[in-house]
Amino acid sequence: MAQPREAISLKDLNSEQREAVVHREGPLIVFAGAGTGKTRVITYRIAHMISERGVPGSKILAVTFTNKAAREMRERVRELLGEGGARGTTISTFHSLCVRILREDGHHIGLGENFSIFAEADQSALIRALLTEAGVEAPPGEILAAISLAKNRLITASDYPTETAQDVLVQGIYGQYQNQLAGMNAVDFDDLLLSVIRLFRAHGHAKVGWQRRFEHMLVDEFQDTNTAQYELLRLLWSGHGSLCVVGDDDQSIYTWRGAAADTFQRFAADFAPCKEVVLTQNYRSTTHILDAAHAIITGVPERKDKKLWSALGKGAPIEIVTATDADHEARQVVERINLARFAGKKDLSEFAVLIRTNIQSRPFEAALRESHLPYVVVGATGFFDRQEVRDLTAYLRFLHNDADEVALRRIVNTPRRGIGAGTLAGCGRFAQAHGISLFEAMDKAPVVPDLPKASVPALRTFVDLIAELRFDFQHGDLIAALRRVIQDTGLAGHWVESADNERQGEARVEGAEEIVRMLSNYMKREFAPTLAGFLEHLCLLDRLDDNDETGKGKVTIITLHAAKGLEFPHVFLAGFEEGFLPHTRSVEEGRELSEERRLAYVGLTRAQRRLTISYARTRSRYGEQQGRTPSRFLADIPPHLIGSGEEVEPEASAEDLAAGFFSAMKDMLK
Ligand code: ATP
Ligand code: MG
Repeated sequence: MAQPREAISLKDLNSEQREAVVHREGPLIVFAGAGTGKTRVITYRIAHMISERGVPGSKILAVTFTNKAAREMRERVRELLGEGGARGTTISTFHSLCVRILREDGHHIGLGENFSIFAEADQSALIRALLTEAGVEAPPGEILAAISLAKNRLITASDYPTETAQDVLVQGIYGQYQNQLAGMNAVDFDDLLLSVIRLFRAHGHAKVGWQRRFEHMLVDEFQDTNTAQYELLRLLWSGHGSLCVVGDDDQSIYTWRGAAADTFQRFAADFAPCKEVVLTQNYRSTTHILDAAHAIITGVPERKDKKLWSALGKGAPIEIVTATDADHEARQVVERINLARFAGKKDLSEFAVLIRTNIQSRPFEAALRESHLPYVVVGATGFFDRQEVRDLTAYLRFLHNDADEVALRRIVNTPRRGIGAGTLAGCGRFAQAHGISLFEAMDKAPVVPDLPKASVPALRTFVDLIAELRFDFQHGDLIAALRRVIQDTGLAGHWVESADNERQGEARVEGAEEIVRMLSNYMKREFAPTLAGFLEHLCLLDRLDDNDETGKGKVTIITLHAAKGLEFPHVFLAGFEEGFLPHTRSVEEGRELSEERRLAYVGLTRAQRRLTISYARTRSRYGEQQGRTPSRFLADIPPHLIGSGEEVEPEASAEDLAAGFFSAMKDMLK
């Protein structure tokens, strides 16, 4: 284990980094390009405050963008301070932080402690129902996106503009949607932030309590904070202590979700006087990689240039791979992974395939499987959209919060129990007339008028089942209880029977097993595991880091958005084509291409030593083979940075090659 004193020796930092680490009171901006050690400044700052200045860990709050990033940051701080050295420190995402605040103080704004967090599918279901009720035909997705954007910009339903007919529609649905959520003791993802802001604005004592708790705050990836997150920071900042934000405007890739492009300028003005530190040395990538990334980002108009330098040497040239189609692209990439692995005795976790959208993932998964190379997919799995996962999480949510009517409606007749729409409508009317919840009405089935005869015992069985399961989760082994939900409710059988084919049935059961695995991981990590805690963990696994597996010994397939902040020795940037990068959507909607450029910049700058860019000449879409052209950004990369692709790994010797080959053969035969 690392010796704390020695490990956080400031020798591991350059002078600008050191300046940022030892800065004591007040606001501080670290504004710098990719790979310059911004995240390192955060971890060292935390360690330095605790071990050198005696700041209690519990007074420190560090906010990162994804759960994965938070886990890594915790790990790094632990390495610096030793086990237990950072006890009490909060390192989390904005969303997890808000959940914690609301569990403690949400009751001030009428939120019960066991509130549900609605995922996108639940939100859509709710919006769809509201639209049907209003007799309007509109795509729920669009309404939802409009509501979400409004929330991220802190616009409530009553403040929503009413200029166009569409505005009026959105405003009406927005208001009803919020009422329904409140009735179910539920919030959606965006509400987590809004509710805390509302809480802090209306209840000064709650705000001051949290301000005192977090005297020292640190925010990573600050360029991507939206208006709501920014406001939350402002509210949490008491003016005492310190507030350090780090980021890179060239990596701003969330303006489409309401992140303001000028966050740094705003911060400097709102939090003046504010110390600024600029970092210019990149410690991550070779200069070939940096120069290529720089060539792409300079295409952004009106950008303040910050040229980075690296002491790591030119390194290998960038390789461009042309493929006939998506499968060919994947095969070539996997071939290269295999070769590089044999040559350099590399661990598979050193390789990452970066993709723009989840449809690109399949061919890579297939090619990796064929070569018996383990892999993990991050950020594009669509895992939480799968039927079995939604069924199962609906059960868990309802077991935790019986006001969650969306969850109840999903599970009440899944698997089929003879509780049809008529029965539900009858119970619904009864619930409304008596001011009770739908579930309470079900419990009173014998006195509910006009129910189909057979449904009364069916409801009884269902209500009893829920009571038993709830007991199991409260008093027993969580894993056994979860298995009971899968088996005893008949869910597993239902998934298999209702599947289109055998394979789909199996995949569904595997999806459920994945949840069991997540629960068991969660239990290993948690000191006092509960259903509530596990649900929170599940709900907060955003689309971005929807996979809580560690990538050790595995190739990573990851979306560009999820790869932010991470680094890999060898990066394969796949699908570098018009349509993916820039994405068709941004070209068609005439949106700024700058954001697409920045996304490409994020992709390139994830690479440490090797970068392979690939594109396919055709892809099949809607069953048709379509021609593709390389991304316009490719032409920006100066030709002298690009190699023929035939360079061997510099460190490879014949012996290494042979040893690598035999160990791979052994893996395959296992
Ligand atoms: P990004 O913009 O991609 O988030 P970043 O600015 O946060 O990048 P880090 O991830 O903190 O950069 O650092 C990039 C790499 O450089 C890491 O591997 C880190 O350990 C290393 N590094 C940073 N500073 C130093 C230093 N002074 N000495 C040695 N290595 C360093
Ligand atoms: Mg970083």
